[in-house]
Amino acid sequence: MIVTSAEFVKSAVREQDYPAPDLPEIAFAGRSNVGKSSLINVLVDRRRLVKTSATPGRTQLLNFFRINDRFCFVDLPGYGYAKVPESVRRQWGPMVERYLAKRGCLQGVILIIDIRRTPKEEELDFLQWLSDRRMPARIVLTKVDKLSKSRRQQRRRVAADALSTAPEDLVLFSAKTRQGRPDLWAHILAMTVGEGARP
Ligand code: GDP
Repeated sequence: MIVTSAEFVKSAVREQDYPAPDLPEIAFAGRSNVGKSSLINVLVDRRRLVKTSATPGRTQLLNFFRINDRFCFVDLPGYGYAKVPESVRRQWGPMVERYLAKRGCLQGVILIIDIRRTPKEEELDFLQWLSDRRMPARIVLTKVDKLSKSRRQQRRRVAADALSTAPEDLVLFSAKTRQGRPDLWAHILAMTVGEGARP
């Protein structure tokens, strides 16, 4: 995918502050520090469109980006980071849940997991919640450059088992080597072609 334009639109917490739902939208979710900002930046070929924060868990807003005037990408705040105060954590769930449940133009969710971490209940619950709402999801295992090729395949199988899916369904990605970029774009395009078809 050649990205000719990628711009930050706005941040929002409340539904009335979301931008107009005029483009098919894809949301990106993952734990803080998983490499979500780096992944989005590689996808859109911009070094710092999404700011990689030195303080994990700091950005607690929904951030909307307009890509090629054709898609909207939404960076969901990272979850599961221990240093986030309880008050912030209590707000995260409802804010993200409201967004995911109500955003009519949302076509799919990209869930990013560190390839070195075995998916746990947290991820399974989230995927089940999306599946109950018929929201398409694609799982990306990132930071694959940190492992040897054989370890990557081994970790991919472990993750697939934990998620009850096929290893080939899990996208291997590296923001460092850009491995997986074409593959992930293909999935995003597939999620957005049937735009409008979702009830
Ligand atoms: P976020 O909190 O999920 O947005 O994570 P960031 O994108 O800010 O990344 C967290 C840290 O992981 C940073 O130090 C990144 O440089 C590093 N990182 C992110 N993606 C990769 C990757 O694919 N490979 C390697 N080796 N490091 C990565």
